[in-house]
Amino acid sequence: MLSEIKARYETQCAKCGRNIREGWTVYFEPEGKKIYCKPCGQPMWVKEQDAANKGNPPESKPSAAMKLLEDILAQCLLLCDIMPKIEERLRDLETDVSRLDSFLRDTKRSSKKTG
Ligand SMILES: [Zn+2]
Repeated sequence: MLSEIKARYETQCAKCGRNIREGWTVYFEPEGKKIYCKPCGQPMWVKEQDAANKGNPPESKPSAAMKLLEDILAQCLLLCDIMPKIEERLRDLETDVSRLDSFLRDTKRSSKKTG
């Protein structure tokens, strides 16, 4: 599988023997550790890209629904962070409510007694 790279040193094309200068766009074949100049490498590279694309259809772009899901997930993670705090606050409130409840019961009882 060829890859399009920038030459990092001077070398020669493995096919036509042309001198390749540093910074040129060249095609590198890792299997044979060969470097091809653009005129030699590009047609081979394009063929490989075409073959690869036929095998794997181009990935579809993330849909709006996918983005929405990601947003929701982010919100959920945020909620997970503050959830313990909310639970703590709820426990406090429950204590307050039960106190208020018993206070009200006491008041009713005492009002019945007096009334
Ligand atoms: Zn060449």
